[in-house]
Amino acid sequence: MPLVTMRQLLDEAAKGGYGVGAFNVNNMEQIQAIMEAAKETSSPVIIQASRGARQYAQDRYLYHLMLAAAELYPEIPIAMHQDHGNSFETCKSAIELGFTSVMMDGSLKTDGKTPTDFEENVEVTRRVVDFAHERGVTVEGEIGVLGGIEDGHGAGGTGLEHVTDPDQAVEFAERTGVDALAIAIGTSHGAYKFSKKPDGSVLKMDILIEIHKRLPKTHLVMHGSSSVPKDLQEIVNKYGGHLKETWGVPVEEIQLGIRHGVRKINVDTDNRLAITGAIRKVFAESPEKFDPRDYMKPARDAMHKLVAERMTQFGQAGHAGDYVQKSVASMAEGYRDGSLSTQPLVAGR
Ligand SMILES: [Zn+2]
Repeated sequence: MPLVTMRQLLDEAAKGGYGVGAFNVNNMEQIQAIMEAAKETSSPVIIQASRGARQYAQDRYLYHLMLAAAELYPEIPIAMHQDHGNSFETCKSAIELGFTSVMMDGSLKTDGKTPTDFEENVEVTRRVVDFAHERGVTVEGEIGVLGGIEDGHGAGGTGLEHVTDPDQAVEFAERTGVDALAIAIGTSHGAYKFSKKPDGSVLKMDILIEIHKRLPKTHLVMHGSSSVPKDLQEIVNKYGGHLKETWGVPVEEIQLGIRHGVRKINVDTDNRLAITGAIRKVFAESPEKFDPRDYMKPARDAMHKLVAERMTQFGQAGHAGDYVQKSVASMAEGYRDGSLSTQPLVAGR
Protein backbone atom coordinates (compact mmCIF):
# COMPACT_ATOMS: atom_id res chain seq x y z
CA MET A 1 0.00 0.00 0.00
CA PRO A 2 1.65 3.29 -1.04
CA LEU A 3 1.69 6.30 1.27
CA VAL A 4 -1.22 8.71 0.93
CA THR A 5 -0.77 12.45 0.38
CA MET A 6 -1.51 14.71 3.31
CA ARG A 7 -3.75 16.84 1.08
CA GLN A 8 -6.15 13.97 0.44
CA LEU A 9 -6.10 12.98 4.08
CA LEU A 10 -6.93 16.56 5.16
CA ASP A 11 -9.59 17.04 2.47
CA GLU A 12 -11.32 13.96 3.87
CA ALA A 13 -10.93 15.30 7.41
CA ALA A 14 -12.58 18.56 6.32
CA LYS A 15 -15.50 16.61 4.83
CA GLY A 16 -15.85 14.64 8.05
CA GLY A 17 -15.31 17.65 10.33
CA TYR A 18 -12.44 16.11 12.29
CA GLY A 19 -8.75 16.80 12.94
CA VAL A 20 -5.74 14.56 12.33
CA GLY A 21 -2.81 14.32 14.73
CA ALA A 22 0.65 14.64 13.22
CA PHE A 23 3.06 12.77 15.43
CA ASN A 24 6.84 13.15 15.27
CA VAL A 25 9.11 10.13 14.99
CA ASN A 26 12.83 9.45 15.30
CA ASN A 27 12.95 5.67 15.57
CA MET A 28 11.20 2.36 15.04
CA GLU A 29 9.46 2.20 18.41
CA GLN A 30 7.71 5.54 17.88
CA ILE A 31 6.46 4.45 14.46
CA GLN A 32 5.25 1.17 15.95
CA ALA A 33 3.45 3.02 18.76
CA ILE A 34 1.62 5.29 16.30
CA MET A 35 0.66 2.43 13.98
CA GLU A 36 -0.70 0.28 16.80
CA ALA A 37 -2.75 3.26 18.02
CA ALA A 38 -4.02 3.89 14.48
CA LYS A 39 -5.00 0.24 14.11
CA GLU A 40 -6.70 0.14 17.49
CA THR A 41 -8.75 3.28 16.76
CA SER A 42 -9.04 2.78 12.98
CA SER A 43 -7.48 6.18 12.28
CA PRO A 44 -5.81 7.75 9.24
CA VAL A 45 -2.47 9.15 10.38
CA ILE A 46 0.24 11.70 9.64
CA ILE A 47 3.74 10.66 10.65
CA GLN A 48 6.26 13.45 10.53
CA ALA A 49 10.00 13.79 10.71
CA SER A 50 11.88 16.98 11.50
CA ARG A 51 15.27 17.79 10.06
CA GLY A 52 16.71 16.65 13.38
CA ALA A 53 14.92 13.30 13.03
CA ARG A 54 16.23 12.80 9.51
CA GLN A 55 19.74 13.41 10.78
CA TYR A 56 19.32 11.21 13.83
CA ALA A 57 17.77 8.22 12.06
CA GLN A 58 19.18 8.76 8.55
CA ASP A 59 16.81 9.17 5.62
CA ARG A 60 17.03 5.61 4.32
CA TYR A 61 16.19 4.06 7.70
CA LEU A 62 13.25 6.40 8.20
CA TYR A 63 11.86 5.85 4.73
CA HIS A 64 12.05 2.08 4.92
CA LEU A 65 10.49 2.04 8.38
CA MET A 66 7.60 4.02 6.89
CA LEU A 67 7.29 1.55 4.01
CA ALA A 68 7.24 -1.26 6.54
CA ALA A 69 4.39 0.49 8.36
CA ALA A 70 2.44 0.86 5.10
CA GLU A 71 3.03 -2.83 4.30
CA LEU A 72 2.02 -4.06 7.75
CA TYR A 73 -1.09 -1.85 8.07
CA PRO A 74 -2.61 -1.70 4.56
CA GLU A 75 -5.95 -0.62 6.03
CA ILE A 76 -4.48 2.61 7.48
CA PRO A 77 -3.91 5.69 5.25
CA ILE A 78 -0.47 7.07 6.19
CA ALA A 79 0.96 10.40 5.09
CA MET A 80 4.69 10.97 5.55
CA HIS A 81 5.45 14.59 6.23
CA GLN A 82 8.59 16.72 6.52
CA ASP A 83 8.15 18.86 9.62
CA HIS A 84 9.64 22.41 9.47
CA GLY A 85 11.63 22.29 6.25
CA ASN A 86 14.01 25.25 6.48
CA SER A 87 14.84 25.65 2.78
CA PHE A 88 13.83 24.65 -0.75
CA GLU A 89 16.66 22.08 -0.71
CA THR A 90 15.39 20.37 2.46
CA CYS A 91 11.90 20.04 0.97
CA LYS A 92 13.22 18.89 -2.39
CA SER A 93 15.33 16.17 -0.75
CA ALA A 94 12.31 14.99 1.27
CA ILE A 95 10.16 14.78 -1.88
CA GLU A 96 12.89 12.91 -3.74
CA LEU A 97 13.14 10.50 -0.83
CA GLY A 98 9.41 9.69 -1.02
CA PHE A 99 7.73 11.97 1.54
CA THR A 100 4.15 12.67 0.40
CA SER A 101 3.99 16.04 2.14
CA VAL A 102 6.41 18.79 3.16
CA MET A 103 6.29 21.84 5.36
CA MET A 104 8.20 24.82 4.05
CA ASP A 105 8.61 26.99 7.13
CA GLY A 106 9.52 30.24 5.41
CA SER A 107 8.57 32.22 8.51
CA LEU A 108 12.16 31.70 9.65
CA LYS A 109 15.43 31.99 7.78
CA THR A 110 17.43 28.82 6.95
CA ASP A 111 19.04 29.03 10.41
CA GLY A 112 15.60 28.07 11.79
CA LYS A 113 15.74 30.97 14.29
CA THR A 114 15.54 34.41 12.67
CA PRO A 115 12.13 35.61 11.44
CA THR A 116 11.97 36.44 7.71
CA ASP A 117 9.99 39.20 6.06
CA PHE A 118 6.72 38.47 4.28
CA GLU A 119 8.08 38.65 0.73
CA GLU A 120 10.93 36.23 1.49
CA ASN A 121 8.44 33.78 2.96
CA VAL A 122 6.11 34.01 -0.08
CA GLU A 123 8.99 33.53 -2.50
CA VAL A 124 10.53 30.41 -0.98
CA THR A 125 7.15 28.81 -0.21
CA ARG A 126 5.89 29.43 -3.74
CA ARG A 127 9.02 27.80 -5.13
CA VAL A 128 8.42 24.70 -2.99
CA VAL A 129 4.73 24.60 -3.99
CA ASP A 130 5.62 24.65 -7.70
CA PHE A 131 8.12 21.82 -7.27
CA ALA A 132 5.91 19.74 -4.97
CA HIS A 133 2.57 20.08 -6.77
CA GLU A 134 4.14 19.08 -10.07
CA ARG A 135 4.87 15.78 -8.28
CA GLY A 136 1.52 15.56 -6.49
CA VAL A 137 3.08 16.27 -3.07
CA THR A 138 1.31 18.38 -0.42
CA VAL A 139 2.76 21.62 0.98
CA GLU A 140 2.20 23.23 4.36
CA GLY A 141 3.37 26.83 4.84
CA GLU A 142 3.62 28.99 7.93
CA ILE A 143 2.66 32.61 8.46
CA GLY A 144 3.36 34.34 11.75
CA VAL A 145 6.01 32.95 14.09
CA LEU A 146 5.45 30.37 16.81
CA GLY A 147 7.07 30.74 20.21
CA GLY A 148 9.50 28.36 21.86
CA ILE A 149 12.26 26.12 20.51
CA GLU A 150 12.21 22.41 19.72
CA ASP A 151 14.85 20.29 17.99
CA GLY A 152 16.93 23.48 17.69
CA HIS A 153 14.15 25.01 15.62
CA GLY A 154 12.22 28.08 16.67
CA ALA A 155 12.36 31.80 17.33
CA GLY A 156 12.07 31.41 21.12
CA GLY A 157 9.91 33.72 23.20
CA THR A 158 6.27 33.30 24.10
CA GLY A 159 3.76 32.46 21.41
CA LEU A 160 2.22 35.91 21.46
CA GLU A 161 4.99 37.99 19.91
CA HIS A 162 4.25 37.28 16.25
CA VAL A 163 0.58 36.30 16.10
CA THR A 164 -0.64 35.80 12.52
CA ASP A 165 -2.29 38.78 10.82
CA PRO A 166 -5.41 37.52 8.96
CA ASP A 167 -4.86 39.86 5.97
CA GLN A 168 -1.34 38.50 5.56
CA ALA A 169 -2.58 34.93 5.89
CA VAL A 170 -5.05 35.46 3.04
CA GLU A 171 -2.49 37.12 0.79
CA PHE A 172 0.06 34.42 1.62
CA ALA A 173 -2.35 31.58 0.76
CA GLU A 174 -3.41 33.25 -2.49
CA ARG A 175 0.12 33.94 -3.67
CA THR A 176 1.67 30.59 -2.68
CA GLY A 177 -1.18 28.11 -3.25
CA VAL A 178 -0.27 26.09 -0.14
CA ASP A 179 -2.57 23.21 0.80
CA ALA A 180 -2.24 23.75 4.52
CA LEU A 181 -1.27 26.73 6.61
CA ALA A 182 0.30 26.83 10.05
CA ILE A 183 -0.78 29.92 11.90
CA ALA A 184 0.53 31.46 15.11
CA ILE A 185 -2.30 31.95 17.58
CA GLY A 186 -0.35 31.87 20.84
CA THR A 187 1.09 28.34 20.80
CA SER A 188 4.75 27.51 21.39
CA HIS A 189 7.01 24.56 20.69
CA GLY A 190 8.48 22.47 23.50
CA ALA A 191 7.27 21.57 26.99
CA TYR A 192 7.18 25.09 28.44
CA LYS A 193 4.24 26.70 26.70
CA PHE A 194 2.49 28.51 29.52
CA SER A 195 4.06 29.30 32.89
CA LYS A 196 0.78 29.49 34.76
CA LYS A 197 -2.45 27.57 34.56
CA PRO A 198 -4.35 29.02 31.61
CA ASP A 199 -7.67 30.50 32.67
CA GLY A 200 -10.36 30.57 30.04
CA SER A 201 -9.23 30.74 26.42
CA VAL A 202 -5.45 30.53 25.97
CA LEU A 203 -5.42 30.83 22.21
CA LYS A 204 -6.32 33.65 19.84
CA MET A 205 -9.42 31.84 18.63
CA ASP A 206 -10.97 34.97 17.04
CA ILE A 207 -7.98 35.14 14.65
CA LEU A 208 -8.30 31.46 13.78
CA ILE A 209 -12.02 31.83 13.11
CA GLU A 210 -11.50 34.84 10.86
CA ILE A 211 -8.75 33.14 8.84
CA HIS A 212 -10.89 30.03 8.35
CA LYS A 213 -13.82 32.15 7.19
CA ARG A 214 -11.68 33.88 4.59
CA LEU A 215 -9.72 30.76 3.51
CA PRO A 216 -12.30 27.97 3.75
CA LYS A 217 -10.37 25.55 1.50
CA THR A 218 -6.95 25.97 3.08
CA HIS A 219 -6.46 23.49 5.91
CA LEU A 220 -5.28 25.13 9.12
CA VAL A 221 -2.50 23.60 11.20
CA MET A 222 -1.84 23.96 14.91
CA HIS A 223 1.79 23.54 15.94
CA GLY A 224 3.01 23.28 19.51
CA SER A 225 -0.23 21.56 20.46
CA SER A 226 0.85 19.13 23.12
CA SER A 227 -1.31 19.29 26.20
CA VAL A 228 1.62 18.49 28.55
CA PRO A 229 -0.63 16.55 30.96
CA LYS A 230 0.06 16.79 34.69
CA ASP A 231 0.10 13.01 35.17
CA LEU A 232 2.92 12.60 32.63
CA GLN A 233 4.94 15.40 34.24
CA GLU A 234 4.42 13.76 37.62
CA ILE A 235 5.63 10.34 36.45
CA VAL A 236 8.82 11.88 35.05
CA ASN A 237 9.49 13.83 38.25
CA LYS A 238 8.51 10.99 40.59
CA TYR A 239 11.24 8.79 39.12
CA GLY A 240 14.08 11.27 39.27
CA GLY A 241 13.25 13.79 36.52
CA HIS A 242 13.42 17.56 36.98
CA LEU A 243 10.66 19.18 34.95
CA LYS A 244 9.59 22.64 36.00
CA GLU A 245 5.84 23.05 36.41
CA THR A 246 4.28 23.86 33.04
CA TRP A 247 0.99 23.93 31.15
CA GLY A 248 0.23 23.01 27.55
CA VAL A 249 -2.74 23.57 25.24
CA PRO A 250 -5.90 22.07 26.75
CA VAL A 251 -7.51 19.45 24.49
CA GLU A 252 -10.80 21.39 24.58
CA GLU A 253 -9.08 24.38 22.94
CA ILE A 254 -7.81 22.10 20.16
CA GLN A 255 -11.32 20.69 19.72
CA LEU A 256 -12.64 24.24 19.41
CA GLY A 257 -10.01 24.86 16.72
CA ILE A 258 -11.11 21.70 14.89
CA ARG A 259 -14.65 23.11 14.75
CA HIS A 260 -13.15 26.14 12.93
CA GLY A 261 -10.96 24.64 10.22
CA VAL A 262 -8.00 23.11 12.08
CA ARG A 263 -7.26 19.79 10.33
CA LYS A 264 -3.69 18.99 11.40
CA ILE A 265 -2.52 19.05 14.99
CA ASN A 266 1.17 18.62 15.75
CA VAL A 267 2.01 16.63 18.85
CA ASP A 268 5.54 15.75 19.95
CA THR A 269 6.22 16.86 23.53
CA ASP A 270 3.47 14.68 25.04
CA ASN A 271 4.97 11.57 23.44
CA ARG A 272 8.46 12.50 24.61
CA LEU A 273 7.15 12.82 28.15
CA ALA A 274 5.27 9.51 27.96
CA ILE A 275 8.37 7.67 26.73
CA THR A 276 10.74 9.26 29.24
CA GLY A 277 8.39 8.66 32.17
CA ALA A 278 8.03 4.96 31.29
CA ILE A 279 11.78 4.46 30.94
CA ARG A 280 12.55 6.32 34.19
CA LYS A 281 10.03 4.15 36.02
CA VAL A 282 11.73 0.92 34.93
CA PHE A 283 15.18 2.29 35.78
CA ALA A 284 14.00 3.43 39.23
CA GLU A 285 11.99 0.34 40.12
CA SER A 286 14.14 -2.37 38.52
CA PRO A 287 17.75 -1.20 38.55
CA GLU A 288 18.89 -4.78 37.95
CA LYS A 289 17.46 -4.77 34.42
CA PHE A 290 19.71 -4.10 31.46
CA ASP A 291 17.93 -5.57 28.42
CA PRO A 292 16.82 -2.52 26.37
CA ARG A 293 13.54 -4.28 25.59
CA ASP A 294 12.67 -4.16 29.28
CA TYR A 295 12.31 -0.39 29.08
CA MET A 296 11.68 0.21 25.37
CA LYS A 297 8.52 -1.88 25.44
CA PRO A 298 6.85 0.05 28.29
CA ALA A 299 7.99 3.27 26.58
CA ARG A 300 6.35 2.18 23.34
CA ASP A 301 3.19 1.15 25.19
CA ALA A 302 2.99 4.53 26.95
CA MET A 303 3.23 6.38 23.63
CA HIS A 304 0.69 4.05 22.01
CA LYS A 305 -1.79 4.80 24.79
CA LEU A 306 -1.32 8.55 24.50
CA VAL A 307 -1.54 8.61 20.69
CA ALA A 308 -4.74 6.51 20.74
CA GLU A 309 -6.25 8.95 23.24
CA ARG A 310 -5.39 11.95 21.02
CA MET A 311 -6.76 10.20 17.91
CA THR A 312 -10.07 9.77 19.69
CA GLN A 313 -10.07 13.35 21.00
CA PHE A 314 -9.24 14.83 17.57
CA GLY A 315 -12.04 12.83 15.94
CA GLN A 316 -9.93 10.92 13.38
CA ALA A 317 -10.78 7.59 15.07
CA GLY A 318 -13.04 5.41 12.96
CA HIS A 319 -12.18 7.14 9.66
CA ALA A 320 -9.37 4.94 8.30
CA GLY A 321 -11.63 3.08 5.90
CA ASP A 322 -13.63 6.04 4.55
CA TYR A 323 -11.85 6.48 1.24
CA VAL A 324 -9.71 5.01 -1.51
CA GLN A 325 -6.19 6.42 -1.54
CA LYS A 326 -5.19 8.55 -4.55
CA SER A 327 -1.71 8.24 -6.00
CA VAL A 328 0.68 11.20 -6.16
CA ALA A 329 0.30 11.03 -9.96
CA SER A 330 -3.44 11.60 -9.76
CA MET A 331 -2.90 14.40 -7.23
CA ALA A 332 -0.41 16.02 -9.65
CA GLU A 333 -3.11 15.85 -12.32
CA GLY A 334 -5.55 17.59 -9.97
CA TYR A 335 -3.09 20.44 -9.37
CA ARG A 336 -2.53 20.78 -13.13
CA ASP A 337 -6.21 20.93 -14.07
CA GLY A 338 -7.04 23.29 -11.18
CA SER A 339 -9.45 20.92 -9.41
CA LEU A 340 -7.20 20.90 -6.32
CA SER A 341 -6.73 24.67 -6.19
CA THR A 342 -7.53 26.16 -2.79
CA GLN A 343 -7.88 29.58 -4.42
CA PRO A 344 -10.94 29.79 -6.71
CA LEU A 345 -9.92 33.22 -8.07
CA VAL A 346 -6.58 32.00 -9.33
CA ALA A 347 -7.53 28.43 -10.27
CA GLY A 348 -5.00 26.74 -12.51
CA ARG A 349 -2.42 29.44 -11.73
ZN1 LIG B 1 6.11 23.06 14.65
